[in-house]
Amino acid sequence: MKLSTNAAALAWSDGPDQAPACKGVNADLFFPKASSAADGPTAAERTALAFCAGCPVREWCLERDLDECTVTSRIVGVRGGLREADRRALHVRRYGVRAPYRAKADR
Ligand code: SF4
Repeated sequence: MKLSTNAAALAWSDGPDQAPACKGVNADLFFPKASSAADGPTAAERTALAFCAGCPVREWCLERDLDECTVTSRIVGVRGGLREADRRALHVRRYGVRAPYRAKADR
């Protein structure tokens, strides 16, 4: 199960006991137009980040998102208290740049 949609929309069968702060919130709110790494968060990103700031499962959400995104470029939206640009930078620091997987037939 990936955090490709709002975490609140997911079943929490393998998650922590606490409910996420984004439970019941429109998933679109967590996919704002992304700001660049050099810029601060946009107003829309700050709105999503405010939910994350008070979320009891924030660390779990962030770790899970980073672990499950095998390709840095697929990290989108706000998760785990970080906007897209910050999670991508963290992903690169942690794992290095991951190129998209290409099947042998494509090479
Ligand atoms: S950290 Fe943010 S995106 Fe993750 S579950 Fe909590 S509110 Fe939702």
